[in-house]
Amino acid sequence: MPNPLFDALLGPHLDRERVCITTPDGQNLSFRDVITQTARIANSLCALGLGKEDVLAVQVEKSPTALCIYLACLQTGIVFLPLNTGYTAAELRYFITDSAAKLLICDKDKYACLVDNLPDIAMLTLNDDGTGTLADHAQKQPGHFSTVACCADDLAALLYTSGTTGRSKGAMLTQGNLLSNAQTLVDLWQFDHHDRLIHALPIYHTHGLFVAMNVALISGAEVYLMPAFDAGLVIEQMPKATALMGVPTFYTRLLDSPAFNRSVTENMRLFVSGSAPLLQDTHEKFEAISGHRILERYGMTETGMSISNPYSGARRAGTVGLALPDVDIRIVDESKGTAVVRGEIGMLEVRGENVFQGYLNMPEKTAEAFRADGFFITGDLARQDDQGYVHIVGREKDLIISGGLNIYPKEIEQVLDAQFGVLESAVIGVPHPDFGETPVGILVARPRAKLDIVSIQTGLAGQLARFKQPRQLIVVDILPRNTMGKVQKNLLRKQYTNLFA
Ligand code: ATP
Ligand code: MG
Repeated sequence: MPNPLFDALLGPHLDRERVCITTPDGQNLSFRDVITQTARIANSLCALGLGKEDVLAVQVEKSPTALCIYLACLQTGIVFLPLNTGYTAAELRYFITDSAAKLLICDKDKYACLVDNLPDIAMLTLNDDGTGTLADHAQKQPGHFSTVACCADDLAALLYTSGTTGRSKGAMLTQGNLLSNAQTLVDLWQFDHHDRLIHALPIYHTHGLFVAMNVALISGAEVYLMPAFDAGLVIEQMPKATALMGVPTFYTRLLDSPAFNRSVTENMRLFVSGSAPLLQDTHEKFEAISGHRILERYGMTETGMSISNPYSGARRAGTVGLALPDVDIRIVDESKGTAVVRGEIGMLEVRGENVFQGYLNMPEKTAEAFRADGFFITGDLARQDDQGYVHIVGREKDLIISGGLNIYPKEIEQVLDAQFGVLESAVIGVPHPDFGETPVGILVARPRAKLDIVSIQTGLAGQLARFKQPRQLIVVDILPRNTMGKVQKNLLRKQYTNLFA
């Protein structure tokens, strides 16, 4: 039976003995092994009463089996809902209730916390070591499954946004959304079966699941699946690999490692960064040490990838590159509803086959997020230069309006980051009795550096208009980040909300 996404991911590899996934603990699965394990899980899920359009919630550690659960959902038409492994039992309740999931797969500890509190859902276990009731059940099932017919418009996954700006929203993604995006990226980034991808991202997020795994499977590339990022292990694998997809913190951690040098990267052909802004400084240092220019791209849970630096053309630090070939983008002056003049800042909007169907159970939020002509309003402010490269200026929710003037935190952060001894910074708007809001800079010092606040303030005064200069600079040990390396400015705003009260 036709099933566009499943057929594209595993169809071409039906008879392949080639390696599909290896892991640091010595697992080695061929494409045929993955197909068989997927079929056993698909049979299990159906035997347990799940079918097309039912939601399966999965909160398990990263493993080949976890990936086979995703693939089994595609093969059966069950909607896959992966959940951040950091979510507590109380948080899980929200996702499970909101999604009306029929079955939850989690580890035995979560199971023990939840079993008496979630009466309306069936539960199976999958533990870190691969044991559990799912494995027991699947082992007894046949290793072949007749793929359920699906079409491009059928829902494939429900993926909740990272919750950086508020409560996570469930993005409804179809087979067509995921497939079109993966095929575009395979072509653009030139993946094929000679590639070996180091996979160190979580697989409950669009980056590690849809970008990394769908691209690797479609192209027949081998995946080295690490449970989590480990700089030493990544460096050790590089001579046997060709590509790494990461968040910016991966790259700063590689740079911090004395074992990272040009010779270990000689076999690598591609380093991709995304999910959060890559500092220009990181980009430049990485090139100086390794000779590779990191390829930065931009995407969201709701859209998959929309914008990417080119593979062959200029990869420009501080930009996320050009619109993908089949994605329309525009930058809009929201007050007028029309495109800005090229070079000016406005709201980034995106349209294409990659764009999701809407937020689950949130018709108003969905309606607010789309224009009548189908463009999705990303919530990110951006500008496009004369060559079409997009610069993400920051989220609209992080924009500071002080005395009626717009202040873009990123502009101030770039100046702060360049000051002596500053490792990184976050600029937030804090309520102020005279100005409504005022910028405050939160700084982290480089290791062993002592920050001289007065000289930093003098440095800022030389470069930024008075109204943009942070009213206060605060030094902290680390910035709060979520698991994707995104700075959680909402937490900082909450923490410092009474600074000028
Ligand atoms: P929520 O929508 O729940 O607040 P979130 O937006 O952080 O959470 P994701 O969908 O994981 O959830 O992240 C998408 C966002 O990540 C984008 O809107 C953008 O702000 C940011 N982002 C992704 N890639 C980049 C990049 N290369 N540079 C700058 N920002 C990026
Ligand atoms: Mg978002």
